[in-house]
Amino acid sequence: MSLASTAAGHAAPAEVTAGGAAAAAAATQPAPSKCDRAKFRIILDVGHTAESYGAMSARNISEFDYNLKLGNRIDEKLKSEGFSETVLLVTTGKARPSLMKRVAVANKKGADLFVSIHHDSVPGLYVEKWEFEGKQRSFNDFFGGYSVFVSQRNPRYQASLKFAKLLGNQMAARELQFARQYDQWFMGKYRRELLDIDAGVYRYDELIVLRMTQMPAVLVESGSIINRDEELVMASDEHKNKVAAAVASAATEYCETRGPAPPLVAKPAPQAKKPPPRLAQQPKTAKPASTRSARKR
Ligand SMILES: [Zn+2]
Repeated sequence: MSLASTAAGHAAPAEVTAGGAAAAAAATQPAPSKCDRAKFRIILDVGHTAESYGAMSARNISEFDYNLKLGNRIDEKLKSEGFSETVLLVTTGKARPSLMKRVAVANKKGADLFVSIHHDSVPGLYVEKWEFEGKQRSFNDFFGGYSVFVSQRNPRYQASLKFAKLLGNQMAARELQFARQYDQWFMGKYRRELLDIDAGVYRYDELIVLRMTQMPAVLVESGSIINRDEELVMASDEHKNKVAAAVASAATEYCETRGPAPPLVAKPAPQAKKPPPRLAQQPKTAKPASTRSARKR
């Protein structure tokens, strides 16, 4: 429907009278594929940096390491399925500035989807200790599973939620369980609203990469690397391939079923309106001559 109205908006006046009939006829025909994969850009944001690496696994491997490996696998999969514009975004530097860099790059490049890739851990309260290769390490075997987060503060929230559900459903279809703890009271400040109990989608409004990106954006935690069994799963090719296939299927479905594609290049963020500068008031003692000289400037 929006496609028809867009077309009518651009029609020459002579065509407008016939437009209604033409649009009605067009509506009865099967819609051609709306998805041009070669033009559909997905930014795969590798969570954290080598310097600020996120969580640490039960076997002392950084989350960044896991994120990068999974990001590469998803990138390969998407490109092999025709999403040739996919961008793997690897950022350097400290945590907070790196978040702003990701957002700036994504908004400058423009994209149809922004997918931030992470691996989960647990709040410090739930960390236990064990010995691995002669050193004391942290673990928690009680929590596990993937989760998908969206922010209602993203300007494309509904589209973000749509993709998040598609992705979560694709993960669930591959027999992956989602992390059930996030809507529980004992998570304290980490507690989140569960938006979709089938797909495992939670609401996390404050995340910078979700709320400041101008395109639909989701953050996916592939699973918990502080869980000793799940860490081994996360490291396996089988799991990485599952997640890559889930992202590719969800992206395809999203691309096929979304409305008319918005422009690829994001609009610049609206500038805060400044009040008009006040005209300098003439001092009361000013003579007419000084008014004239002020006007010349
Ligand atoms: Zn992370």
